[in-house]
Amino acid sequence: MSPREYLTSLLADARRAVVFTGAGISTESGIPDFRSPGGIWSRMKPIYFDEFVASEEKRREAWTRTFSGTMRWVGAKPNKGHYAVARLIARGRATAVITQNVDNLHQESGVPVSQVVELHGNASYATCLDCGLRHELEVLKQSFLGRGEIPSCRDCGGLVKTATISFGQAMPQNKMERATQETLGCDLFIVLGSSLVVYPAAAFPLMAKENGAKLVIINREPTEQDDFVDLVIHDDIGPILSAAVPPD
Ligand code: ZN
Repeated sequence: MSPREYLTSLLADARRAVVFTGAGISTESGIPDFRSPGGIWSRMKPIYFDEFVASEEKRREAWTRTFSGTMRWVGAKPNKGHYAVARLIARGRATAVITQNVDNLHQESGVPVSQVVELHGNASYATCLDCGLRHELEVLKQSFLGRGEIPSCRDCGGLVKTATISFGQAMPQNKMERATQETLGCDLFIVLGSSLVVYPAAAFPLMAKENGAKLVIINREPTEQDDFVDLVIHDDIGPILSAAVPPD
């Protein structure tokens, strides 16, 4: 059986698959991998959570980055890989998408919000750090660019930040617990576009494997966990997954 045929057969047999995605699925939508050489963190310093909270200057810098499009999150569209994942969810083959991405593209491709577990948050909106109220970026952008106002909460006056998990900010405990539950409940764990170097997120594939699930990795580059898998394919995700989960 060829790797592609084996992938199709594993997906056909799955009853409770879990999909785990990293930057590699979104590079196919034109979003750069921040951690790669030439990626954004090799060109500009990340702003740590404590700096954001402590310094108005850092907050201004963070919002300038957000609204100048430096991060290239805005305007990207889901690609074939995202849509194939959405079909796995819609057909009841997969129960959840655990993602390291903050680009909202799984939701945009049609995966219900309740089935996306965002380990690093979401960059497409902002929240109040004090009361949690959601703020839309378009509204904040107007007062920031128009009047130079650094976003604050319209309800409680607290600091507002994009809903991402910043460097130096704790991983959200409820998301980690949900991801663990999904991982332990799955019969097939599919890694898409992650080099599996960032812990604790990178622990999930082996957790699934040790719990008896099949493990598949599709990633352009070799990963730390290639030796432990049932199937590894080093290629682009969109064409491979789309062929294995074709549209109706
Ligand atoms: Zn608030």
